[in-house]
Amino acid sequence: MTEPKYKRILLKLSGEALMGDGDYGISPAVIRRLASEIREIVELGVQVALVVGGGNIFRGAGLAAEGMDRVTGDHMGMLATVINGLALQDSLEREGVYTRVMSAIKINEVCEDYIRRRAIRHLEKGRVVVLAAGTGNPFFTTDSAASLRAIEVDADIMLKATKVDGVYSADPMLDSSAVRYDRLTYDEVLERRLMVMDATAIVLCRDQNMPIMVFDVTQPGCLMNAVTGKAIGTVVER
Ligand code: UDP
Repeated sequence: MTEPKYKRILLKLSGEALMGDGDYGISPAVIRRLASEIREIVELGVQVALVVGGGNIFRGAGLAAEGMDRVTGDHMGMLATVINGLALQDSLEREGVYTRVMSAIKINEVCEDYIRRRAIRHLEKGRVVVLAAGTGNPFFTTDSAASLRAIEVDADIMLKATKVDGVYSADPMLDSSAVRYDRLTYDEVLERRLMVMDATAIVLCRDQNMPIMVFDVTQPGCLMNAVTGKAIGTVVER
């Protein structure tokens, strides 16, 4: 049996990754496929912590642009990530994967609170931990939450799921001369303002030396390829 290169990963799934071809909400087919791919790596013995976004439902900045109070908008965005987390939990458990949703804001009727040591214990027992509600604070993103949690739970790498197969010098959809990088340093990402994650998230990973792999989550087998160390996507490291 293939040996995983990474024993514990933090997977960042944006809300968009759950949306499929639609422009809002959750695609049942997409979430089923993701759950099945996650099951495969769990069966390989990989411990999986998952940070889920909420952009498929609400984003605080978008709501603020339409006139809503920003903090209220961010609270709505964080609650949106809990909705996505519950949907992922449901799909994963249908696949037979034990899953716990842990929220950074207390919603005890629907999920556990995020308590670092308890999250690590779930991981050690082979349960997937879905970390919802971002950092629990407005003005942050779930990318920053992903960096923070990856470091807190001592993940070997953060896998940042996107719809492109890595980081490019320019938008490959708009510029045919754009080149894809196999490897970048954190400072290159920051200096060239490459669209990997927001600066807060990158700086946190840089300062704590947490490697990031940016890869195309729409490709079947992507998670297995990522955890077994296949050369996919772009790796950002020191
Ligand atoms: N959010 C927040 N604090 C956090 C993480 C998220 O306030 O620590 C809010 C913010 O409004 C954000 C929304 O939740 O727009 C959804 O998260 P994000 O935009 O990161 O989701 P993604 O783009 O990954 O789907």
